[in-house]
Amino acid sequence: MGFAKWVNLLMVFHFFAATPIFSHSSSFTSKFLDLAKEPEIFDWMVDIRRKIHENPELGYEEFETSKLIRSELTKLSIPYKYPVAVTGVVGFIGTGSSPFVALRADMDALPIQELVEWEHKSKVAGKMHACGHDAHVAMLLGAAKILIAHEKEIPGTVVLVFQPGEEGLGGAKKIIDSGALENVSAIFGLHVDPTLPIGEVSSRSGPLFAGSGFFEAIISGKGGHAAMPQYSIDPIVAASNVVLSLQHLISRESDPLDSKVLTVAKFGGGDALNVIPDSITIGGTFRAFSRENMMHLKQRIKQVVIGQASVYRCNATVNFLDEEIPYMPPTFNNDELHELFQSVAVNLFGVNKVSSSELVMASEDFASYQEAIPGYMFLLGIRNISVKSLAIPHNPHFTVDEDALPYGAAIHASLASNYLLKLHQNLPLVEEKYNDEL
Ligand SMILES: [Zn+2]
Ligand SMILES: [Zn+2]
Repeated sequence: MGFAKWVNLLMVFHFFAATPIFSHSSSFTSKFLDLAKEPEIFDWMVDIRRKIHENPELGYEEFETSKLIRSELTKLSIPYKYPVAVTGVVGFIGTGSSPFVALRADMDALPIQELVEWEHKSKVAGKMHACGHDAHVAMLLGAAKILIAHEKEIPGTVVLVFQPGEEGLGGAKKIIDSGALENVSAIFGLHVDPTLPIGEVSSRSGPLFAGSGFFEAIISGKGGHAAMPQYSIDPIVAASNVVLSLQHLISRESDPLDSKVLTVAKFGGGDALNVIPDSITIGGTFRAFSRENMMHLKQRIKQVVIGQASVYRCNATVNFLDEEIPYMPPTFNNDELHELFQSVAVNLFGVNKVSSSELVMASEDFASYQEAIPGYMFLLGIRNISVKSLAIPHNPHFTVDEDALPYGAAIHASLASNYLLKLHQNLPLVEEKYNDEL
């Protein structure tokens, strides 16, 4: 069935008084935060987040999470596409026609044993929502609940993207490749941040998260007796020099003001104390804030590994693991969307609650959307000393302060509705900051 027919068949349930939201942009954004804090939305989001937290699922295995999302969308009479990229769900709110703006939440958990003792601790041994994706899903559903209550006033379509496999598995790329976002003209995404207090957001224009790539190299020599090295070709000495030479790619070849990382995190080979092994395997990761820098590092890693190994008469092969751990481009925020974000966030949370992010060397697969369409990623505060939500993501003590959920839901809903409103009114995406009549 075509999407337009879905929308025509849609029964819209208004949970809140359907006062016009698009007539006074400054008042409706603050209303969204009030709505998101209402027990009807807040308690519902908390319940969803806890259910997902108790049953964490790794990338492309998010079957129960996806089922829960679909069940809630159905209850809200929001049409959706499923499956998209294995377990992904893409929902639609609005007219069903252009312009389209997307909001993204990732769904996958991590292979980490939760060490937080609380009532809704993970029930699955060795798996945990340690990156806050359970909260991301709950917040996007919260935004959906706010927006559907005002669906008839949305001048376009909000596309809800529930994405699988963010944790190094290329889920965003799979969503793009599925064609589900073909007509979308902008996409927004958030990540919870325990370094920012509750009620605050931060981001920046241009680069935010680094791109990441991985490599593994096998350096092969000729094994033999450790007491008679003249009969062997020692891959350990060769690999040791490869590691040292790789360090020079950042310290000697790179602009010190343009951040990059190259870490050899794996070095393995040899079992006996009196045997020179046949080969050594090394591996690691490289990070940078532009595609150009990433490609340059990739090329130089290969040259240095092969070249340096050959100095010691060894052969080397380098594998960039594109299948196992897909290359992640840098997250690069669109300038115009940054201006819109600033204006919406200040309106919603207050001028003192919106800050400029530092660059982050970790990567985010939201970057894959930004390679295809203008996109904007921002960070949402979850830090609260009283509930100890201080641990950084991917830590077994990671905790989300659930009081952050309404902020995430409200800003998602506000960004999407403001974006469509500005397009509808044929206005620049940002209001003029300066008055010509001064
Ligand atoms: Zn993560
Ligand atoms: Zn994450």
